[in-house]
Amino acid sequence: MKLRRIKNQPGWYEIMSQCPICGSKGWCAINEEQSIVHCMRVPTDTFFDSVVGRQFKHYLDPNQIPNKSEIEIIQADSVDKKPNYHLNRVYRALAQELNLSNYHLEHLRNKRHFDDETIRFRQYRTMPDQDRYKVSKNVIKRLNDQSDLLGVPGFFVQEGKYGPYWTMAGQSGLMIPFRSILNEITGWQIRVDIPPLELHMKGAIKGKILKELDPRNGKRCALCEVITSGKTMEVILTEKDKKVCRSKSDQFVFSIELKQGLKYWWWSSGSKDNGSSIGGPIPYHFSLPSPCMPFWQVGEEPDSLIDCSEVWVTEGGIKADKASDAILKPFFGLPGVGAYPLILEPLKKIGCKHVVLAFDADVVTTPEVQLALELCAQFFAERTDMSLSLAMWDLSLGKGIDDLVDNGYLPQVTKLLD
Ligand SMILES: [Zn+2]
Repeated sequence: MKLRRIKNQPGWYEIMSQCPICGSKGWCAINEEQSIVHCMRVPTDTFFDSVVGRQFKHYLDPNQIPNKSEIEIIQADSVDKKPNYHLNRVYRALAQELNLSNYHLEHLRNKRHFDDETIRFRQYRTMPDQDRYKVSKNVIKRLNDQSDLLGVPGFFVQEGKYGPYWTMAGQSGLMIPFRSILNEITGWQIRVDIPPLELHMKGAIKGKILKELDPRNGKRCALCEVITSGKTMEVILTEKDKKVCRSKSDQFVFSIELKQGLKYWWWSSGSKDNGSSIGGPIPYHFSLPSPCMPFWQVGEEPDSLIDCSEVWVTEGGIKADKASDAILKPFFGLPGVGAYPLILEPLKKIGCKHVVLAFDADVVTTPEVQLALELCAQFFAERTDMSLSLAMWDLSLGKGIDDLVDNGYLPQVTKLLD
């Protein structure tokens, strides 16, 4: 298990590898004794609310507690994140130094159906796969000092032959800026070009990916090493082809599945020297319809440009941008469906009276999303006098609100709370 110490929470670690409770990566935490997991995805009766969402307390079965030797604690000399106005200054300098590759431009035009002007206003960029130190050097030239990159997630210091130098972390991919309600760029998400493959295992099995092979029938596949009943074998697994093994008496023994990992990652460098984590708190994204963008000054409240009494909320940066253009309302793009506590204060500041939740249409079929929705309604009811509505549509018309509007439909809005 890969762990990273959580700042301001002594004795707790973020689980960077698969969480032993939900099997996903990121956000879940474990204590020093490795006896309790705070899982963000699998509910229990004991929970508490943090800025990233509700955390459920799970006691680990003493037999499931991982070996100390299997635990790798990511140690780095990282620094605290700088305030938003500083991040914005550095990230805007970065936006001037990075390009948008043709590959990503075509993706935005053809898959997301953005026009070129919108793409320009939104400032999407490409994280290159090489010469990142050159970009960092040019960003420093635009600022006052090398130390301006300190505390800015994404940047870190590398030791080179001729001494240390600044460079940039992360996989290559499409960079999506996350904006505050004051139009400050406070972080970036990367839509990675090739998401890493992961092995998901449950029960009496261990294994690892040895190497990725050429795709078969359009599906990614990999040569894996697995250990079960004391035997080590090499097997080829294909993406999404879940193998389940049961005993003669139909008892579950193990399951193994090769899955594509997350497509969206925060641009962060908390595990690197002089790097900084995106967390504490993680950014939300606030989006105005793109015609407003050229008139929106940094530091300016959005209610001078657009009526903010009704604000819509969805999950994801690009999705919020896309939907805001189609529905002509201000949108929040949450970094995850459970991250709504992040936007409570911003909603109050811009004078919102009515919140419309527009999560994906599979809300009825995904228990996690359904739960997040119920908790979200409860959260707003307890803390605000804003009314709350739910935007709904048939899954056949599109999964996300971005797909829905692309297909030429609008959602139906139903009141949840008055
Ligand atoms: Zn978990």
